[in-house]
Formats: sequence, structure tokens, C-alpha cells
Amino acid sequence: MIAYTALLDKAIVNPEGLSTNDVMALLTPPSLAATRRLWQTAHLLRLDATGKCIHLRAIIEFSNYCRQDCLYCGLRQGNRRVARYRMTPDAIVEAAIKAHKAHQFGTYVLQSGEDPGYDLEDLEWVVQEIKLATNAAVTLSIGERSYGVYQALQEAGADRFLLKFETSDGNLFRKLKPTTTLEQRLGCLDTLRGLGYQTGSGIILGLPGQDLESVASDLLLCRDADYEMVSIGPFIPHPDTPLGSVSLASNVCSTLTTIAVARLLVPNAHMPATTALGVIGQNDKWWKSEAPKLQDARSLALMAGANVLMLDVTPAKYRASYSIYPGKASADGDVICDSIWQTKQDVSNLSMTICPGRGDSPKQPWGRGSTDVKREGHFH
Ligand code: SF4
Repeated sequence: MIAYTALLDKAIVNPEGLSTNDVMALLTPPSLAATRRLWQTAHLLRLDATGKCIHLRAIIEFSNYCRQDCLYCGLRQGNRRVARYRMTPDAIVEAAIKAHKAHQFGTYVLQSGEDPGYDLEDLEWVVQEIKLATNAAVTLSIGERSYGVYQALQEAGADRFLLKFETSDGNLFRKLKPTTTLEQRLGCLDTLRGLGYQTGSGIILGLPGQDLESVASDLLLCRDADYEMVSIGPFIPHPDTPLGSVSLASNVCSTLTTIAVARLLVPNAHMPATTALGVIGQNDKWWKSEAPKLQDARSLALMAGANVLMLDVTPAKYRASYSIYPGKASADGDVICDSIWQTKQDVSNLSMTICPGRGDSPKQPWGRGSTDVKREGHFH
């Protein structure tokens, strides 16, 4: 425990000095007491960097067509069992306006598979209309695109972009994402940063073939890129994919621990308590002994370094078809108002509140080395 506490101190004061071995050691606390200490340290760092309140993002999953064929994903091009849908530009804007009437979200996240089926002009129009109608930030999560597309959408008003690299292990990436390359994906992230998007990335935890060293390297990549948003979600096997019979390798505890270590390494990032974590928390009830009053494992992540919740405001008729992994659709309520009410209750149970406003990155302007957040070893 003493050695682990010393490593935590080192991480707080000098995350740049952490080696792969250090991060592997942080990811494997020697006891439950050390695990709790890690989570608490990450929570305090989060409070220091991004404040006490929780950012609520509204997500619209507007198309489940995808030209990629990632082995783990229910939306992969090769999955013939998913009912495909593509919302019209009007319907996407309507969904955002409807959500805005229920709650004035500060950010709308427009997510889809990598769908080449929209004209660029239509996507530009959608971004412009949502910004005009809501005055909120718009985040895009639409996969790998050309420089010209990223640039045009930014000029249309898009503020942020999410593109998880999923794993930094080149061999594993090749096996799991055979229709693209790690170099291309990281190149897209560099392009987005260069254009000035607030850029988010992240990983899937527990992928078959992923080991501890691989996860440590993933987190170090996030540190070195200093992304404005970092997402850690557990892998959940989807029955209609080639990985459908693989066992679940991560659990609530390991996911929270990885989120907490990510917070140590990228202290100023916005980090979601992912829906996938909520889904595995429905069966893995261990976490209930840590927080008996909480209803959802996602809430515990908000005490271990995460500070963002995503609320699905996609029209209900499409939700079951955006099946990246099983169980996702049922993790959110069918009615937007109910979901918002439940989320506010959960956040209030943590003695926290929902942040008003857009919830931009605390780094100004976006980019590495521009933060003035103090890093002092005063957390123990
Ligand atoms: S992970 Fe993304 S890019 Fe890969 S198949 Fe699924 S939606 Fe498409």
C-alpha cells in the first residue's frame, strides 16, 4: 500500500514522468483500500480540474449504417441482422429541438456509424440549424472522414469531435478493425486537433487479445495527445458479431479503476460514465456494496474520475436498432423527461448538480500545454 500511495503521489505531481510499468502498477491496486484510494484521488483531481457539477450531453444516434466492419460492433457492415435506419436531416434537427424543450442541454452529440449516405451540405445544414435553435455546442461522432469534410463541418459550427482509437496495439487493431488502420485513425485525430476541434478519443476495455500492458499504452497515448475528452467503455460481446461468444473480460471494478487512472494521466479531460458501464453494472452487482444508495454503476464512476453523462434522446423507434452492443437501448428510458428526471435524481444522490452551459474543455484554447490547472500533491 505504501508503494502504491507513493506511485499515486508521483502520478499527481508528474504524470509525464510515468512509465508503462508505472501505469500497469496503477491499474492493479494491491488491495480494496488501495483501489478506493485511487478512485478518491481521481475524484479529487476531477473536482480540481473540471468542477463539482456533472455535464449532461444529449446524444442523437441518427444513422446505424456503417461502411466499416469492426469485429466487435453490432453496426458492422457485415451484420445483416440489424434493421438499418437513416434519419432525415429534418428529423435530426427535430429530435434536437424536442430534447431542448425538455431540458436545455448545453451539448448535442450527433453520432452515427460511418455512413457515406448523407450529402455534406445536409450535415452542414443540420449542424447550423441545431446551433441556431439551441445555442448549444455540437459534437460530432461520425467516424473517419477527409480533411475537407472535417473542415466544412467545423465551419458550419461543429465544436467537438469524438473518435475513439479503441486500442493503440497495432496488431490487435488490425485484427479487430480490418477495414481501417490505426495510423489512419490517429491521423484523423491529428487532423481534428489541427483544425481546432475539441477532440475526444478513448478505448474499449477488455477486448479479446488486450492485455494490461496494452491498456497502459492506450492510457499513455491519451496522456501524450492530451485529448479534451477521454472515454473508457467496457467491451460487451454482441451475439451478431464474430466475437459474440467471447466472455466478458472487464467488470465494473476494472472499468472504474481504468477511468480513475485515465483521470490521473489526463486530468483536464471530460470523461463520460459510459452507458456500457451502466449495462455491465446491471449484472455485476459488486459495486452495490460500495454505494448501496446508487441505482446505476455509472453514478459510481462519477465518484472515480468521470464527470459527464450522456443521455440518449434519439427517437424511441430507432433506439433498439443502434445496437453497438446488447443491452444498450434498455439502459436509457424511453421518454426523454423520465430519463432527465432519473438522471437528476442520481446526480443529486451524489450531492452534485447538473452544470448549466456548454461544458467546454477547461483548457483554453484547446490544445496541449494550455492549462493553468495547478498540479500539487495535496490529495492525501
Ligand atoms: S465501431 Fe464504429 S466504425 Fe466500427 S463498425 Fe461499429 S459503428 Fe462502424
